[in-house]
Amino acid sequence: MRKSEIRVGLLCAAVAALAAAATVPMAQQPGPSGPPVVLHAARLLDVSAGKVIQPGEVLVEGDRIKAAGQSVDHPQDAKIIDLGDVTLMPGMIDAHVHLFLHPGAEDLQTVEESEPWRTILAEQAARADLMGGFTAERDMGTEGAGSASTAVRNAIDRGMIPGPRMRVCANAIDILGGHEDANHFNPAQHVLSNADRANDAEQIVETMREQHKEGADFFKIYETGPDRMVDGEFHTPYQYTEAQLAAAVAEANRMGTNIGVHAQGEPGTLYAAEAGVASIDHGTQLSDETMRLMKGKGIFAVPTFAIFEYFAQHRDTQEQAAAEAAMLDYKIKEFKKQVAAGIPFAVGSDVGPFPHGTQARELVLMVKYGMSPADVLRADMINGAKLLRWGGKIGELKPGYFADVIAVKGNPLEDISAVTRVSFVMKGGVVEKQE
Ligand SMILES: [Zn+2]
Repeated sequence: MRKSEIRVGLLCAAVAALAAAATVPMAQQPGPSGPPVVLHAARLLDVSAGKVIQPGEVLVEGDRIKAAGQSVDHPQDAKIIDLGDVTLMPGMIDAHVHLFLHPGAEDLQTVEESEPWRTILAEQAARADLMGGFTAERDMGTEGAGSASTAVRNAIDRGMIPGPRMRVCANAIDILGGHEDANHFNPAQHVLSNADRANDAEQIVETMREQHKEGADFFKIYETGPDRMVDGEFHTPYQYTEAQLAAAVAEANRMGTNIGVHAQGEPGTLYAAEAGVASIDHGTQLSDETMRLMKGKGIFAVPTFAIFEYFAQHRDTQEQAAAEAAMLDYKIKEFKKQVAAGIPFAVGSDVGPFPHGTQARELVLMVKYGMSPADVLRADMINGAKLLRWGGKIGELKPGYFADVIAVKGNPLEDISAVTRVSFVMKGGVVEKQE
């Protein structure tokens, strides 16, 4: 998320993580048994070509796509599902979510709510996101619930609860007194940070190893904040040096994974790009040099417009709302430069502080502020799959890919808001929603 929160840490975080440690890898999941399924609809989106073909069909066997196109084989025993006047497309990917956050009393919910309660809400959030058409997500921090996210991920993977395929990072990593620390509270209350604390490269690596041990798939680092606009100029202090971030990247690579940073502006965004992180999230202010590095290294920018819009529309005082609106205006201006520079994007909404399941709004906003629908859809599904380290497995309707297929009312290339009207969701060959 974007704003500071506070939390009460509970010992049961570690217990929950240990209980969930016996995780079943995705490849070992039993696929759905039963006859093959043929999905038929008026249209099908070819994401990489940026084209819609008519009609569209997908043949699903077990948890995989066997074929997709205008027409496919109809095996004798196949179950035919005719979805009518909709567009078939791959399940959407949200590269920046918070299953453990919900709207309202943002700065207090992690103090007032127990971790078991937050875990139950996270299960409901996972279901809502799936029903909204998101079949894969990257959870960018439980914000104080530690590795409880690994339990939610594992329960989804075992088919115990509905939800997207998850990449989770447990808590984010932050410096003492940093963006996500519990600053400005009565010191006598000892309010705990929302993030795991690390002050130098050695501590970052140690924290990552602890999180990895508890089941984290990747790591999130807070690199900038707090943010301020002064006379139309954006300012945000950095937290870690380029060398400290590079140590984190090296450790993540050693484990076969990657790092996403919360980084709003310079010089933190430059340090992150130099260090070679996988994504720069929020990424409001990126210098020419930062963008050059991102293009060269294939580092994704994840703009998260939906949360900026929501905050601008939902602040308590006019003053706060005006400050959020000024930030959004600045962000839109900078985004247009980033699109012109041709940097790679992935799509992440920062959902949690706004209602789960509604985050397809992010794709609408990226089109509104300057990208073509085809480019936004490619950023979401093809780049999103790469960022989540599931490239070649999800994000397209191709033989051998997981059968993560949704249907939307309308043609998303002509009207991107079609992605907010999801009428059908299949994940891993299992029908999760059918209107
Ligand atoms: Zn976030």
